[in-house]
Amino acid sequence: MASEKSLAIVLRVRDFSETSCVVTLFTRSLGKITALAKGARRPKSPFESALDLMAVCRIVFLHKSSDVLDLLTEAKLERRFRAAGRDLSRLYAGYYVIELLNELTDTADPHPKLFDAANSMLAALDDAGPIVPIVLRFELTTLRELGHMPSLVDCVGCGQQVGDDDRVAFGQLAGGVLCRKCRMGQKQVVSVRKQVIETMRRLADPENQNWINYVIERGVAGELRGLLSHYLSNLLGKRLRMHKYLGMLTK
Ligand SMILES: [Zn+2]
Repeated sequence: MASEKSLAIVLRVRDFSETSCVVTLFTRSLGKITALAKGARRPKSPFESALDLMAVCRIVFLHKSSDVLDLLTEAKLERRFRAAGRDLSRLYAGYYVIELLNELTDTADPHPKLFDAANSMLAALDDAGPIVPIVLRFELTTLRELGHMPSLVDCVGCGQQVGDDDRVAFGQLAGGVLCRKCRMGQKQVVSVRKQVIETMRRLADPENQNWINYVIERGVAGELRGLLSHYLSNLLGKRLRMHKYLGMLTK
């Protein structure tokens, strides 16, 4: 059993005993892991204060191949998520980033690009970056990296490019935009303004480096928020805890 090193984001910390805790981490090299941190609660612990939610740290751990816990042997803090004490909406957005990683990724399934996106989104939230586009960009990046990106240009039914109507049909179960013909008989179809789909396309484009400067009209942001929350709930078969708080970001 070799020891592994990685950058990691702290997703969850729970007490295991008086002095130890169990941490769930999203690592760059190995994806999500759950590890025992022995002595983490002691005053002079080998993890110092690196094991806080949303903190980014450099860790060393022993990865066990069976379903027993990994063992964390070292954690050095790279960056703490400081926005928490400043601004409640930034705190909620940060919680949401880790909730998405927790719920949508599997154990020991690495996604380094998703790790890098989460790392830079948390840094931008912690700084002064605009919350609404950061959250939307991260959701769309997560969907793309994990292979769940809805179709935003071509009809999911027939593959034809969806026309230039003012309103576009989006099939929540079908997984993307639908043309007039294919929307018939589909369940859970919502009609949104075409600006909503356009904004989604721009924010989802991995080549686009200027997304952070987009000013998203409040109404469009609200519709897009509803659309994505619904889409993610369908995907996971449950509502994410932070969705009810995210609504307030677009109001
Ligand atoms: Zn069609």
